[in-house]
Amino acid sequence: MKIICIGRNYVAHAKELNNEVPEKPVIFLKPSTALLKDNKPFFHPEWSADIHYETEVVLKICKQGKYIDERFAHKYFNEVSLGIDFTARDLQSIQKAKGLPWEIAKAFDHSAVVGKFFPVEKLNLNDLSFELKLNDKTVQKGNTSFMLFSPAKIIAYASQFFTLQAGDLIYTGTPEGVGKVSIGDKLTGFLAGEEAFRCEVK
Ligand code: MG
Repeated sequence: MKIICIGRNYVAHAKELNNEVPEKPVIFLKPSTALLKDNKPFFHPEWSADIHYETEVVLKICKQGKYIDERFAHKYFNEVSLGIDFTARDLQSIQKAKGLPWEIAKAFDHSAVVGKFFPVEKLNLNDLSFELKLNDKTVQKGNTSFMLFSPAKIIAYASQFFTLQAGDLIYTGTPEGVGKVSIGDKLTGFLAGEEAFRCEVK
């Protein structure tokens, strides 16, 4: 399986990192070794002093497709979750400044937290609220209605380049409020008011 991630999909987040608001979805990938499931702890890597949380709505692809038309994109995912796109912001800033790829800052082991999945029929994907708490304080609050590119647009665009396969995950981008984690922090994600994951930083 592969993990497709969208960057800068919320205007306020693009601006907080001084990025342009994109005309097309910004895409990067994470390998399957990036996954962190089942509320397992995240072990802070020693090579970064600035790991950030980015909470994102995650789609699970349920069938293979290529050049998927936006109108039919909803048929290609059947479950939705919430996750974290952990980012080594210090390394990413160096890579960005040099115009180099981001993988070491984004695709490292256990950089993709994913919570429990909810059947898509139970959620209103056009108006889905989500929230991240850091040690019981809300640090990110988002709603899919503020996405620049909807799930259907993301699937249509991404599937031009990458064949989507059952089990692939799509991280749909983070809203504003990203920040640094420290050892001992406890992160809890809520999707439509229900707990989707918890993750302790060790
Ligand atoms: Mg992200």
